[in-house]
Amino acid sequence: MASGRFRAKLWPARARVKSTQLRKDLTYFGQFGTRGLGYDVEQLSKMISDLLGTTSLQPVILVGVGNLGLALLSYRGFEQEGFEIVAAFDINLERKRNKDIPTPIHSMERLPEFVRERGVKMAILTVPTPVAQEITNTLVDCGITGILNFAPIVLHVPEDVMVNNVNLAIELENLSYFIQQ
Ligand code: NAD
Repeated sequence: MASGRFRAKLWPARARVKSTQLRKDLTYFGQFGTRGLGYDVEQLSKMISDLLGTTSLQPVILVGVGNLGLALLSYRGFEQEGFEIVAAFDINLERKRNKDIPTPIHSMERLPEFVRERGVKMAILTVPTPVAQEITNTLVDCGITGILNFAPIVLHVPEDVMVNNVNLAIELENLSYFIQQ
């Protein structure tokens, strides 16, 4: 059905996946939708937000306000997706940063107290590779359980901590492989 409350059949085409695959993926999270009718879009959207924990703004901190960190802090689109970078931390507060950003930048000494007081669970790591593990240890000790790591290093963390690595070079390698075919 392509109109009214039950419009989710349009989604697979937009996401370029088969509708059977989409339905199968959704079943991992429970029973959604009505057989033959599809999905109540509003209800499904709310359930997905609940699952992702994005019904309210989730606080995130960023460590390492250099070239990359500053670029990420300048992007205001995270809030639309349910994430707010509430503070940034850096060892060098004197460094000249050309962009005006609304996010406060604090010294590393303030990090543990800030994370505990604000109950922050997620951190973005944009520091040089040699210090990435040491800072990760600090983050984990303070209670951070999700790290988005941009440093090109495999971080060692306890089992209950999740690290997602972002590596643009690997993405380019993937594209490079694709265009060779
Ligand atoms: P940068 O040198 O411009 O910035 C690093 C920042 O970290 C600086 O502000 C520095 O003061 C701070 N810092 C250094 N030691 C610190 C410490 N002990 N505690 C807190 N802050 C500290 O570097 P950049 O170009 O922004 O790159 C940052 C990281 O991102 C590097 O590891 C780089 O390899 C990586 N990177 C990854 C990708 C990717 O695709 N994943 C792309 C670009 C850069």
